This record gives sequence, C-alpha cells and structure tokens, in this order.
Amino acid sequence: MAWGRLYASAFEKVRTRIREIGRVLLAYNTNIDAIHYLDGKDLEERVMRVGLEDVLKYSEELPERVESLPQLLGSILWSVKRGKAAELFVESCSTRFYMKRWGWDELRMGGQVGIMANLLGGVYRVPVIAHVPQLSRLQTGLFKEGPIYVPTVMDGEVKLIHPKEFAGEEESCIHFIYEFPRGFSVLDFEAPRENRFIGAADDYNTTLFIRDEFRENFEEIAESASLAVISGLQALTKENYREPFEIIGEHLEVLNELGIPVHLEFAFTPDEAVRRAILDLLGKFWSVGLNEVELASIMEVMGEKGLAQKLLAHDPVDPIAVTEAMLKLAEKTGIRRIHFHTYGYYLALTDYKGEFVRDALLFAALAAAAKAKLGDVPSINEIIKAMDIPVNERAKPVEDSLMREYKMEKGISEVGGYQLSFIPTKIVAKPKSTVGIGDTISSSAFIGEFALRS
Ligand code: ADP
Repeated sequence: MAWGRLYASAFEKVRTRIREIGRVLLAYNTNIDAIHYLDGKDLEERVMRVGLEDVLKYSEELPERVESLPQLLGSILWSVKRGKAAELFVESCSTRFYMKRWGWDELRMGGQVGIMANLLGGVYRVPVIAHVPQLSRLQTGLFKEGPIYVPTVMDGEVKLIHPKEFAGEEESCIHFIYEFPRGFSVLDFEAPRENRFIGAADDYNTTLFIRDEFRENFEEIAESASLAVISGLQALTKENYREPFEIIGEHLEVLNELGIPVHLEFAFTPDEAVRRAILDLLGKFWSVGLNEVELASIMEVMGEKGLAQKLLAHDPVDPIAVTEAMLKLAEKTGIRRIHFHTYGYYLALTDYKGEFVRDALLFAALAAAAKAKLGDVPSINEIIKAMDIPVNERAKPVEDSLMREYKMEKGISEVGGYQLSFIPTKIVAKPKSTVGIGDTISSSAFIGEFALRS
C-alpha cells in the first residue's frame, strides 16, 4: 500500500479547504496547567516541615480529595513511590495558597477546549467560539493570537471577542502538575518511572460550570457556528452530574435543530454512573472520539465485559475486537461516526461512505506526528514536516488482519452496513511533547472531514 502518497494528497486537500468550514463551537472545559518539576531536596524539606508521620500516611493510601498539606505532600509521594499518575481535587483554600507560593516552572493551556481552541484557531486559523469557565489574566494570556472568540454580553447584546480583550478579572482554575523523572528520589522512595501527580485547584471545570452568557444566549451563539465539539464531562461524579447533563441535553437539542454536527471528545471517566449517562446521550451526537481504554470502559457499562478485556489484551490493539465494539456502540446509540485512536493506527466507523473519512484520519495523523516531533506547531504549513516520519511498521499486521477479515482495500471496507476506514499512523520515536495529542487527533479528523465535504 502506498500510504506515503495517500498521506501527501490528503494533507494537501485538507490544507486548501480547511478555512471553508465556518465557525467551530467548543465547550466546556478550559483551565491552566501549571507544571512544577519536583526537586527531591526541596520536597523532603517540605515534608519534614509539615510532619513526616502525617505525610507518610497518605503515601500509603491516597485520600479522596486534598484537604490539608500532609494530604498534598503524601499524595505526591504516593505517585513517586509507584511511578503512577494520580489526580485529586484540592478542596482547601490554604493548601491552594501553598501550591501557588510553591510555584511552577511552566504554564500551559489546559482543558480540551483550551487545547483545541489554540490548535483550530491559533494554528489552522479556523474561527472558534470557546467556552472558558473563568477568564483570569493568567488564563487569557495562554490563548494564541488568531480567530479565537469568547462570547461576552455588552449592553444586553452578545459580542464575540478574543479572550485577551476580556476586560474583567475572574478566578484562575489551575491544575498543578507535579512531574518527576524516572529514578527521582526523595526520602526512601525512588520513582520506578516518570509520571505526575495533579492537584486540581479548580471549582469550575471539575463540576462542569457553564457560564451565564452561554446558558442565556446559547441559541444565538450556536447559530453562528457550523460545527461543535463538546468535552469536559470526565470529572463529574454520580453526586453532581445531573444538573450539567440537563443543560448539555438542552444544548444538544438546539444544535441538532440547527443541523450542526456535534463531536464528543470522550476522556476517561472514572465514575460509572456518569459513563452510563454519557452512553444515554450519545445518540444526540454525530461523532465520538476515543482510545482503547475509553472504548473498553464503555463496553463495560454496556455489559460487554469479554470484549472490554479483549480490547486491552493485545499490543497493538486487536482491530477486529475494536470493530466489533464500535459496531455494538453504533447500533446501540445510533451515533453516525466513531473515531478510535491507538498507538500505531486509527479506525473510523461511519454510517456514510467516502474516501474523505480516511483522508481526514490521515490529516489528523500527520498533525499528531508534527506535534510529537516539533512540540508546538506554529502553522498548518509546518505539519508537512512530519511527512518524513515513516509509517509505523507495527500497523502492518493490523492492516493484514483487516484485509483478511473485511476485504479492506486502500484502508476502506464495508462492515455490517457501515464504512470502516483504517490508517496506519506515523510514530515519532523521541517525541518532544505528547500533551493533548489525543485532542489534536480527534479534532483534526472531525473538522478535516467537513473540510473535505465542503
Ligand atoms: P492524551 O489524553 O494524552 O491525549 P490519548 O490516549 O487520547 O492521550 O492519545 C494518545 C494518542 O496519541 C495515541 O492513541 C497515539 O495515536 C498518539 N501518539 C502517542 N504517542 C505518539 C508518538 N510518539 N507519535 C505519534 N503519535 C503518538
């Protein structure tokens, strides 16, 4: 298969048409990621000052949320000791203040909306309207230049302005990310691998707060958009999801009435009740994007435990199991497009046909490889720099298996009345950055598809 040629032509086609898709509405989660690279000596001194015994308790067992300094430092040690990631909500004001004073090495745009706004608006120059729960100076400063807008109400009228033009000062929703390398040592602990502990000092994104401007003027805001991407449901819990889900349901109804296709960017959602509620809502979306862990977690709440296990049993992930799972999900919910991504390949199941589905996946894979290679991609033209990264060899047996099972040709086949599109991705051996790479993949493929339809 001449994937190189398909990659080049897909990129060119999307690049020339991407500005024609109109505005993209992005809701709901935007925050600030404050990265702090841990220093062993500093951390040890802090532990001693707060009280070794109190701290060590929490390095054995994580608290449910962070309400004190021993819990904060203990949770960091919990991650270091195991080389495992963990994320907890930070409840106490004094602990939040301590984290602020402890400081950070780097600030990054966080939240799927923030990341996609900077990619679509700042890099692709596609106009976006973003929901930003809190517009603090720190937050607005992280938006790139370009056609990125937030709605604001002036003299009773909705105006779209760049976040940097927002005159008020609101709270900062900061996710403190305490990173450590492999071998990092503190007290008697040594990290078996690199990872991070995240303390979320954020009352807004964690409960899916929706701004009044959005709630009161949603129809007017939505009317000016051609596409929408929804994300940020992952932190909700069985105690607090009902109210935001009601509003999301209303928003989806408005978008559906206006004929605006909506993509859901699924992210790992630990709470089972919330996952079930998402499953119930899925039929109102045009499209969903997810990885193997996320697809398996949905199969679990659908009662498909065996299939869920199969999805996590092989490396690379068994594409026949993925296809079976996607078919079950499409049939149960009626969703029109499912985009699955994993390390090495992507698959899309659509209830419509055409090479443009596959070509949009190719564009997304090139964008992801460019991001991994360059860190930050300054403009869409730079994405072509990823062309020299070879197509991943690990995807060959995956492609063979799809050809055998579904008679796939040039990455396209028909399965159970749906089109199945496949592409092998380009993998960057020493990536500069993989933060938000899943969001890059899903949003690029979704809007790329509509660029190719236009
Ligand atoms: P995240 O939440 O970190 O964005 P996801 O699982 O949603 O994680 O996305 C990760 C995806 O990024 C993988 O499925 C894979 O396709 C892609 N990816 C990861 N590492 C690389 C790399 N080095 N080069 C190219 N693509 C990569």
